[in-house]
Amino acid sequence: MIPRTVSFPHLLPNEHLLSVVARWFNQTGHNNFYEITKSYFKSTENLIPYVVWNTLYAEIAKHYQHSMCFEQLINDHTLLNYYRPFMSSSKREIFKACDLALDMDDKKYVTSRKLLLHVTCWRWCPDCVNEDTAEFGGSYWHTYHQIPTMLKCYRHDTTLLSSCGHCGFMYKGFYRAWLPPENNQCTKCAKKYEIERSSICSKRNWFESMSYYLQEQSSALSLDDLRRLMRAKIDKGDLSNYTSPRIRNELSRLNTHYANSIDTNFMSNYLKKPSKLLSNKSQLFNLTQVAYRDMVIPPLAIIIMLEYLGLADTLTRAN
Ligand SMILES: [Zn+2]
Ligand SMILES: [Zn+2]
Repeated sequence: MIPRTVSFPHLLPNEHLLSVVARWFNQTGHNNFYEITKSYFKSTENLIPYVVWNTLYAEIAKHYQHSMCFEQLINDHTLLNYYRPFMSSSKREIFKACDLALDMDDKKYVTSRKLLLHVTCWRWCPDCVNEDTAEFGGSYWHTYHQIPTMLKCYRHDTTLLSSCGHCGFMYKGFYRAWLPPENNQCTKCAKKYEIERSSICSKRNWFESMSYYLQEQSSALSLDDLRRLMRAKIDKGDLSNYTSPRIRNELSRLNTHYANSIDTNFMSNYLKKPSKLLSNKSQLFNLTQVAYRDMVIPPLAIIIMLEYLGLADTLTRAN
């Protein structure tokens, strides 16, 4: 329970819900985030954006329930829209009921998210930091900057920052620092962050706009719908327990063709060890496992499977 004495600031445009804890703490003038916050909140561990929703979100959300509708809070201040089409329909239904106590830290993501870049630390845009500091008096964490398949700012062409190129410091939680740096300097080693505004290839641009759309519009599809569409496209029927050797061979050939079609260079923007992952035939890239078995993999892997099957536009069409 949040004691009455906590007075959270107003949520800023597209501010991530956990960011208000950081801004609230910043106002206290203390510098030991976890010591201070643990007496106010049940859990301030794992303050990382890959957790789409957990009990801490619920604690914070209750604070805003009289000033903002639940739908707006979800749409603007969490990554739930982006993740929705990659959730089973039963999980989506729970969320429709606005169950604030729901814990969305899906354990099935635990293994695969270790393979991904951009999910285990907070990211920011230095141009947004400048604008936000001028307009709101300080920096904050934007929801859109935490979408793992977006590498550029949704408002500027600036590449999002996530770690110090010199000492490797990252915001994995709010231990050493809790807000994006206003002086564009690393909190740990004080080196300046390099700002990059280079143009990117059309495929990456497509990925950026697809990801932005998912967060802004929220797809009406669920993972079950996507798997159904994939099976229809693969066109081998809904396989029963017995699958003939001929069909098994065809599916195996499809998987190999799919794995060979993946652009390792492109994937190095989003994966920690792309060539190793692809050569090991990781479950992340097992198309038929995803289509026919109840396997949960991150949005990145599903989007490229849909693209391979010519189905990617269904994500942005079905609303
Ligand atoms: Zn920006
Ligand atoms: Zn540094």
